[in-house]
Amino acid sequence: MHSTLVIVGASYAGVQLAAAARETGFEGRIVLIGDEADAPYQRPPLSKGFLTGSFSEARLPLRSQAFFDEEKIEWLPSMRATHIDRGRREVELQDGSRIAYDHLALTTGARVRKLDCPGATLDAVHYLRDLRDARRLAQTASTARRAVVIGGGYIGLEAAASLRQKGIDVTVVETEPRLLARVASPWMSAFMQDAHARNGVAFEFGRKVIELKQTGDAVSVVLDDDTHLSCDLVVVGIGVIPNTELAAECGLTVAGGIVVDECARTSDPAIVAAGDCAAFVPHWAPSDSRACRIESVQNANDMAKVAALAIAGRPQPYRTVPWFWSDQYDLKLQMAGIHSGFTHHALRGAVEERKFSLFYFRNEALIAVDSINRPQEHMLARKLLANGVHLSARDVEDPAFDLKGAVQ
Ligand code: ADP
Repeated sequence: MHSTLVIVGASYAGVQLAAAARETGFEGRIVLIGDEADAPYQRPPLSKGFLTGSFSEARLPLRSQAFFDEEKIEWLPSMRATHIDRGRREVELQDGSRIAYDHLALTTGARVRKLDCPGATLDAVHYLRDLRDARRLAQTASTARRAVVIGGGYIGLEAAASLRQKGIDVTVVETEPRLLARVASPWMSAFMQDAHARNGVAFEFGRKVIELKQTGDAVSVVLDDDTHLSCDLVVVGIGVIPNTELAAECGLTVAGGIVVDECARTSDPAIVAAGDCAAFVPHWAPSDSRACRIESVQNANDMAKVAALAIAGRPQPYRTVPWFWSDQYDLKLQMAGIHSGFTHHALRGAVEERKFSLFYFRNEALIAVDSINRPQEHMLARKLLANGVHLSARDVEDPAFDLKGAVQ
């Protein structure tokens, strides 16, 4: 008798986990449950090319229907899992039916954090997480003239760049004193702020939105210093909340995410979790560190592969160097590693030409590299970090230094 793998959540991690399970030789039934109606799709283009019109909806699907057919992956669209019965090893669905599992994977992702102030539900207010959000935003943006973007993280800034490219006036409101405060170094925040300013974006830093008021066709965004920003479009990108309710309700360990070990296993041996919903102590952090989540396509894909190996009975620890990217205007920002706790950095390349990399060190160790329009250097950086190559700031700054040769 073959066993059944049920996967709850049909985005990057869920789809990759199904594919990886087949690659590891899993021959049983695979059921992929997703609450969205659209076939699993790429999310990064939603705030970029999909919004500017350069990336068509037809290109969004992650995999073709033929892939699901050939791999015998039963994808159930528009279906929510409502309860997990760990005793019986069954997942209950919104239509009241139940599916028995031998292995269960939770790849439930995250949902947007909603604005919580008077006027937050006005029609002009948009979020950017799923395809339905993106379709609605693209529609509004086709006639909008003035936008206020709330949140200066990647989603907010990518939306700001796309809206500017469409000729829309943009003001970004950010509670912190700098952009990308959660994810980028102060140096990179300043560089990105300069890029947006050159493209005509205005900023309100250190400010909170206290109210949104509809006045005729316009919306007034009221800040805590009584500034009123008039606009016809509001885009909110203030972070996400992991979808952990199913896991918590059935008694799995949840702490800021569904807690997994280095092999993507939850506190129940029959259940793995991967992607935005899963929290773990990263291999580069001290072992007594708190579990954290990593929100990226790379993390979803690579953790899903690790989870598939755990299901196959061949557990392998998750050791990949994390990497991220963001496209804004003509800037391709690619980041490898995690820069937090860096003691100094070194610059390689030419900032004025907008082609350079910033190498971050913690004492003597290289811990992260941010690249702007240097895709090959980014690929090298991932190898340097993976191999733990020793480099000095002076090496990095020397244009004659052979970075490629340093990758062993
Ligand atoms: P996202 O994936 O949505 O970009 P991030 O957490 O990377 O999420 O960025 C969200 C940004 O929004 C952060 O820089 C944070 O400081 C900012 N932020 C959070 N709440 C508010 C708010 N109410 N108003 C303005 N900015 C906010």
